[in-house]
Order: sequence, then C-alpha cells, then structure tokens
Amino acid sequence: MNAATETIALTEAEKKQQYNFNKLTKWLRHGVGDAINDFNMIEEGDKVMVCLSGGKDSYTMLDILMGLQRSAPINFSIVAVNLDQKQPGFPEHVLPEYLKALGVEYHIIEEDTYSIVKRVVPEGKTTCGLCSRLRRGILYRVADELGATKIALGHHREDILETLFLNMFYGGKMKSMPPKLVSDDGKHVVIRPLAYCREKDIVRYAEARQFPIIPCNLCGSQPNLQREVVGQMIKDWDKRFPGRIESMFRAMQNVVPSHLADTRLYDFKNAKADGIAREDGDKAFDRDQFSEPGRINILASKPDGDAQDSGCGDF
Ligand code: SF4
Repeated sequence: MNAATETIALTEAEKKQQYNFNKLTKWLRHGVGDAINDFNMIEEGDKVMVCLSGGKDSYTMLDILMGLQRSAPINFSIVAVNLDQKQPGFPEHVLPEYLKALGVEYHIIEEDTYSIVKRVVPEGKTTCGLCSRLRRGILYRVADELGATKIALGHHREDILETLFLNMFYGGKMKSMPPKLVSDDGKHVVIRPLAYCREKDIVRYAEARQFPIIPCNLCGSQPNLQREVVGQMIKDWDKRFPGRIESMFRAMQNVVPSHLADTRLYDFKNAKADGIAREDGDKAFDRDQFSEPGRINILASKPDGDAQDSGCGDF
C-alpha cells in the first residue's frame, strides 16, 4: 500500500467513525428528547441545575442537554453544579477547567461531607446511605440559592431497572427511580433526562467524547455488592436475551393494578361480576403466551404513567 492509498484508507476509517458517532449522538438525543416530552421534564423558562459528579453519565447528560438547548423550541437555561465532597485525591481542577472551556455557567460547591461520613459511620459499614442524604440536602439548598426550577440527575435506563429489582429483592416493593419526581418537601422537581438511554450507548459516547472522568472510588467506600450483582444480572440478560431489557423497561410503563395484588391500587374486595366486558380483563383460566421479545425501539414507546442509594450518581 503506498502512502496515498494509506491516507485514503485512514480517511474512510475516520468517516465511518464520524458516521457512527453522529448516529450515536442522534440516538441519545432522541432518547433524552422523548423522555423530556413524555414526562414534561423541561418547560419554557426553566433553569435546569445539572448535577455533575465527573462520571460518564453526568458528562453525557450535560452534553446532550446543551445540544438540545440549542435546537429546542423552548427557552431554558442550564447551570452545572459539582459538589466537591473533599474525598482524598479529588482532582479539583478537572471539572472547572472542563466547564470553563465548555462555556456553561457552573458552580463548584465545597462541602466536607467525607469527614462527616467517616466520623459517623462505623468502620466497615457502608457509607453511601449517609453520604447520599447529605449530598441531597446540599444540592436542594444550592438549587434554592441558584433559583433552579429543575434538578437533573444522570441516572439511565439500567440504573432505573437495577433499583426496581433491588426494591423487589430486598425491600418488598415494586418501586424504582422515576424519570421525574417531586421531592419529599414538595419544593423541588428532580428529573432524569437519561431515563430512556442505554448504559452501553453512554459508555461509547463518553469514550468518543473523551470526557475527563473522575474515578468514583476516591472515598474508599466498598462497592454496593447487591447493586453490582443485580447490574451484572441485567447485563448478562441483555447479552443472552436481546430485547429483554427493553421489555422490562416497558413493563414499568404498562402497569396493570387489577392483575397484581396491591389492595390500595385496586379494589379487589368489591370486585364483582357485573356483566361488563373489560378490554384488558383476565381470560380467567387462560395461560398467557409469551415469546422472547425482539429488540424494541424504546424511543417509540409511550409511557402511561427507594432502593438503596446507587452511590455517587444518586442523591
Ligand atoms: S461511593 Fe459515592 S455515595 Fe458512596 S460514600 Fe463514596 S462518595 Fe459517597
């Protein structure tokens, strides 16, 4: 191969790479755009506080939201916020340098929650619960100070499914992290714009964009083993049974209370034969027929409608 041919081959490779990256960006934008629309996450005049941990998810969320901001038919502003919790070895310069170069309004909040957690939580016990609660309180306060109307977190589809399974396995609840949530005190609206996005797409996007990732184990906390096991289970299913993850996520958007067993959601006690046929009614003694789902385009789905903390991404 002579030098000229080599140059052409490289250009073709670069072209393909660019094409794939554009496709990935479009896919993520669609996912975020659909989640925003379906849950009315962002409205005219909103000030969205994007919480940045320095991990792949929050960098991706900021990037995609800034892209959408440029093309959206509504006006909203973005302010990026990072909480420097004073973990040993936290590279303080990384986020300010990145955000400055990006030209987005940002604030770095310095609060030494690391010392509090280390002092209060006995050696060997998991620190993420208290750490997440402290972080949540601080971020709510900062949202008030900045006049933010929405607080955006970078949880994606797999985080949401993991939380659903953790709550079922260990908490006896069918409950997850919703794409949109009003805080307990009724004062804040938390949104998860990546709710429809697949983690593997976010990984690829973060690699392509070469985000300056800050490691999430600086605090020395033990990984949440239960969450890791459930996460691995989901990844394994995704490999072995294409379409299963999409189907499980859609299940969260298609809840049928009359076919579960929560007496608070469906009045089983007063259920009587009234002679009225029901469209989604039981076929009494029929067994449901299931086949392994094919890949479903999650972007085309339309939704009808606390496990343990997930570590640094959660608050
Ligand atoms: S892993 Fe994250 S959430 Fe858990 S204690 Fe460390 S900093 Fe806090």
